[in-house]
Amino acid sequence: MTATTQDWTCISHCGACCRLCPEERSEALAALSEAQRHQYLSMVGEDGWCIHFDTGGRRCRIYADRPEFCRVSQLGDLFAVPDHHLDQFAICCCKQQIRTTYGGRSLTMRKFDRAQRNGSGGDE
Ligand code: SF4
Ligand code: SF4
Repeated sequence: MTATTQDWTCISHCGACCRLCPEERSEALAALSEAQRHQYLSMVGEDGWCIHFDTGGRRCRIYADRPEFCRVSQLGDLFAVPDHHLDQFAICCCKQQIRTTYGGRSLTMRKFDRAQRNGSGGDE
């Protein structure tokens, strides 16, 4: 039997990972260095979202300059995930974020699942 793997892809107008609320993100916080944790906490807005997140347009206002820990390419280093497990790990992280932020049956979750199957960013 051949194992199938999915490539991870981000979707537009999601931003579930930009909900930084420390009470909901203890695992992520624990993986950061002290300096990164300090930066992370300085970005938490009163509503729990990152202060750089445009909640209306659901996008990062500083995308090109976002911190290293916002980059999915850094997940492997932060959580010591081997390269061949990175896509699956990223998919699990996104699904967890989307579930807690928008709900497991939300349109965003469906869009994310569809994008992983199709291998594209989910813009319709
Ligand atoms: S949770 Fe995943 S799919 Fe959604 S914006 Fe973040 S990286 Fe992209
Ligand atoms: S800096 Fe941008 S990518 Fe990082 S959490 Fe804030 S809004 Fe999201």
